Amino acid sequence: MNLDHAHVAIIGAGVAGLTAADALAGWGVQVSLFEKTPFLGGHAIQLNCKATDACVKCGACVAEDKLRRATRHPNVMIHTGTQVEAVSGRHPYQIAYRTHSPLVNADRCNGCGICFEKCPVPGAILQGRAPRVGPYVAIRRDLCRFFDNAACTLCRDACPQDAISLSDRAQTGTIQADAIFMATGFSPYNPSDKPYGYGRFANVITSLDAERLLREHTVMKRPSDGRAAGRIAFVQCVGSRDAQLGHPWCSKICCGSSLRMARLIQSRQNDAQITFFYIDVQTFGKDFQSFYRNARENIRMIRAIPGDMLRTDRDELKVIYFDPESSASEESVFDIVVLSVGLLPAGDNARMARMLDWAADESGFMPLHGGERHHAPAGIYAGGAATGPMTIAESVSSAEKTVFDMIRYLTAS
Ligand SMILES: Cc1cc2nc3c(=O)[nH]c(=O)nc-3n(C[C@H](O)[C@H](O)[C@H](O)COP(=O)(O)OP(=O)(O)OC[C@H]3O[C@@H](n4cnc5c(N)ncnc54)[C@H](O)[C@@H]3O)c2cc1C
Repeated sequence: MNLDHAHVAIIGAGVAGLTAADALAGWGVQVSLFEKTPFLGGHAIQLNCKATDACVKCGACVAEDKLRRATRHPNVMIHTGTQVEAVSGRHPYQIAYRTHSPLVNADRCNGCGICFEKCPVPGAILQGRAPRVGPYVAIRRDLCRFFDNAACTLCRDACPQDAISLSDRAQTGTIQADAIFMATGFSPYNPSDKPYGYGRFANVITSLDAERLLREHTVMKRPSDGRAAGRIAFVQCVGSRDAQLGHPWCSKICCGSSLRMARLIQSRQNDAQITFFYIDVQTFGKDFQSFYRNARENIRMIRAIPGDMLRTDRDELKVIYFDPESSASEESVFDIVVLSVGLLPAGDNARMARMLDWAADESGFMPLHGGERHHAPAGIYAGGAATGPMTIAESVSSAEKTVFDMIRYLTAS
């Protein structure tokens, strides 16, 4: 097949999907990129650059670069707010999709923020992470009071750009694709069932919440009262390496990400005292040894996973753990606790795999194409964190490798 006539559908516009879109487009392939949320960039676009006085190679900037490149390429057709509903046929595949009309017109919205001020429901209006690329503001239909019969139009009435249109129209469409790339990524573990008070204590947050807080305020502010947190605990392996939950794997990125975040906080808040509860530390990158040595000098490292967490009368968090050094139960008090949540298979994997006449492996992640078991149908591929926990750099190289396999497949067919 001449690549100029080839068409590939990519499902998921995280760093893996964006990398693949840009690379395939570079080969002359037409690409349809489907993203179910209103925003592009997946999880990686939500992360902070962790550089202090020098780059620490966290990879956050890679996502922005991939986003810019994919959105600028004329061969890439982007469908945000879109779910693939059915896949039929074989080479070419027929893909039926449904796109919810965007409630905020990205071309008109200037990101002034008046809609956030007017909205009576916390969290109903979402702020995007890449102000210069794609939509920057989106409204959640499931929370918006216009759609629950309350007919609230406060945001629409206040918008000086006339950018908000509260109509629940959805459009359906179909495309033909010669190959499909599943880049549906991962889901972060929801720690509500752990004995850490997540969802009950405002100052117990996940690592993704911490990324958002740091992005919004530069320093780590307590959600309960907006005070800068002085005593901060990180609890590692929440939802990973947990046989009881059926998640025995290490999520690979959490130790590196949390230690870099801890050092970033310390560089911005001189008085921040950071404690790190861990099982063991996963190495990352060639600079790991010097980074880790330096981190250990400034961070209290406790090789234990807390058993319980309580809120004190002064709205502090008391963490109870078994200290292997003293062989005794110990307590420490913190202003905020960050739970480093594990990376789980994306919630949609099973449904998507069924649609593609494929199957996830026993962990729930997608098997890599060409694996000995769980062979994919011809022309169907998966890459990035849809196939298992991985860093941004690994997601990029996984997507690039998958594109290479797809190009071979397309030229041979
Ligand atoms: C708290 C935290 C900190 C991290 N820190 C670092 C770090 O410092 N360095 C690092 O290298 N990595 C870090 N990571 C890992 C990084 O986020 C991943 O490597 C990266 O996001 C993987 O990209 P991806 O595109 O494979 O998946 P994702 O980012 O999960 O993107 C998948 C995309 O697919 C979309 N999607 C899913 N299902 C569908 C569907 N059915 N239809 C349409 N769209 C769909 C999703 O909405 C999403 O946009 C961190 C992760 C977390 C949670």
